[in-house]
Amino acid sequence: MSARLLLIGPPGAGKGTQAHRLSTALGIPAISTGDIFREHLRNETELGLKAKAYMDAGDNVPDSLTNDLVADRLSQPDATAGFLLDGYPRTIDQVRALDELLAAGGASMDAVVELVAEPDVVVERLKKRALEQGRSDDDEAVVRHRLEVYAQQTAPLIGVYDERGLLAKVDGIGEVAEVTDRIEAALATRGIVFAA
Ligand code: ADP
Repeated sequence: MSARLLLIGPPGAGKGTQAHRLSTALGIPAISTGDIFREHLRNETELGLKAKAYMDAGDNVPDSLTNDLVADRLSQPDATAGFLLDGYPRTIDQVRALDELLAAGGASMDAVVELVAEPDVVVERLKKRALEQGRSDDDEAVVRHRLEVYAQQTAPLIGVYDERGLLAKVDGIGEVAEVTDRIEAALATRGIVFAA
């Protein structure tokens, strides 16, 4: 079904994993700005080269670059009926840019799911991922910095979406399928239903 959704939560909360599962269940694309940036890094594009130093340090890529990238991605035909954003917006400026972009097409967000996970848990998960996947920004010091950046720049967005009545808080700790069930239940109460 058509829905414009956002998954928000600290690094390591499981946003990417859940985004893929929900995207399949709802038939809408999962759009991860982190994945798109990593693809640019791999392909050594101009954008990738610009983003690299920020990503390696665990800092946000500048808003102007990120907003342009998302505007381009959301203009693709597969995103017209809905999408699930993962990792964007991450700053108040990005919220503003997304609002304007959607409003220009007469649209707005339908729901925002906050995946809640304690810092100690996400640090452990990301340590494991560092061993499995070798993502350079999963180094422990960089992870701690990413958590600080999240707390300072991204966590305030939760209040913004809560004031709009769009926020659903979901416990991100537990089995993957269990967390998906919780998210689906939270979205169902907002009229976003999943086929059986
Ligand atoms: P995580 O959620 O685990 O931090 P992501 O894959 O979402 O991982 O992001 C990895 C990195 O990509 C971030 O640390 C940042 O440098 C960059 N990035 C991703 N999304 C954004 C965004 N919306 N704005 C700015 N930088 C971003």
